[in-house]
Amino acid sequence: MIVVMKPHAPQNCVDQVIQVIEGHGLISHLSVGDEVTIIGVVGDKSKLADCNLELFDGVEKIVSVTESYKLANKKFHANPSTIKVGNTEIGGKKLAMIAGPCAIESRDQMLKTAQAIKGAGATILRGGAYKPRTSPYSFQGLEEEGLRYMAEAREETGLPIVCEVTSLEAVEVAAKYVNLFQIGARNMQNFYLLKEVGKTNIPVILKRGLAATVDEWLNAAEYIMSEGNKNVILCERGIRTFETSTRNTLDISAVPVVKAKSHLPIIVDPSHAAGVRHYIAPLAKAAIAAGADGLMIEVHHDPARALSDGPQSLKPSKFEALCNELRPLSKLMGRDL
Ligand code: PEP
Ligand code: MN
Repeated sequence: MIVVMKPHAPQNCVDQVIQVIEGHGLISHLSVGDEVTIIGVVGDKSKLADCNLELFDGVEKIVSVTESYKLANKKFHANPSTIKVGNTEIGGKKLAMIAGPCAIESRDQMLKTAQAIKGAGATILRGGAYKPRTSPYSFQGLEEEGLRYMAEAREETGLPIVCEVTSLEAVEVAAKYVNLFQIGARNMQNFYLLKEVGKTNIPVILKRGLAATVDEWLNAAEYIMSEGNKNVILCERGIRTFETSTRNTLDISAVPVVKAKSHLPIIVDPSHAAGVRHYIAPLAKAAIAAGADGLMIEVHHDPARALSDGPQSLKPSKFEALCNELRPLSKLMGRDL
């Protein structure tokens, strides 16, 4: 449930409500908006049976939150969240442009790619060091060696870096290098992994599972947030449907649906949705038009020889052309790119 305070309720009234909530062994979550102050209550609300918070000074009303996700819920936090990532942010006026190869393959590749995408308009560098592949015989990633190359690319360009983590050990290692964790689609409901990144203060991109509903996805975000890490960014990357023309089906409606249900930023990955580079530009435009807070695009300097996801990777020059094409649309949507 949430306690909505009266407009301009004095601080001592807010403090008193929080004291009562916490005094009953529940967790309070304060959200101070431009218009209203909201206090979210997490835990078994039957513990509050002996007091009627609605009658406390400064309280406007009590609203029950029926959804099982609370901290990720828009009712708990009316204003959209903006998440700081290194020298940039996700969820603000500026669109996040996350670009880079599917897999980190070499030092040279990362340094070259980082320079090229930075000039083109990228705000964050991506690269996979732990590669959960469909086949166990495919390239599995350079692990810590790859993370070192990414960190070097950050030194050279100033771009914050993001890497997927696939195990508790990977979280421990990657935490020493990255500005942002990524939880991949295949691990969206790996609750131990979610809790592990939730114990850090490193922001997390949470990709939507291949067959997950929006509510299951928001509950996965809640797992991370309930451990203390509130810095979660959702990423729509296509879901499994009967359609086979594309690798997955980009659920563009997930963008407004998430915006209606949650305060968390949402970005779109048209690369993994399409699976072929030809469809990336139209899907990227659709994502921005739908209100996404950014994009994740796979970029490789030589897609034909990429160790992973070559068919969906753009060359740096094509990524630059895409950014140029997206700029007027972003402006129309009130965003910067
Ligand atoms: C990736 O971003 O390289 C990746 C494996 O994505 P997903 O988890 O969406 O398949
Ligand atoms: Mn990939």
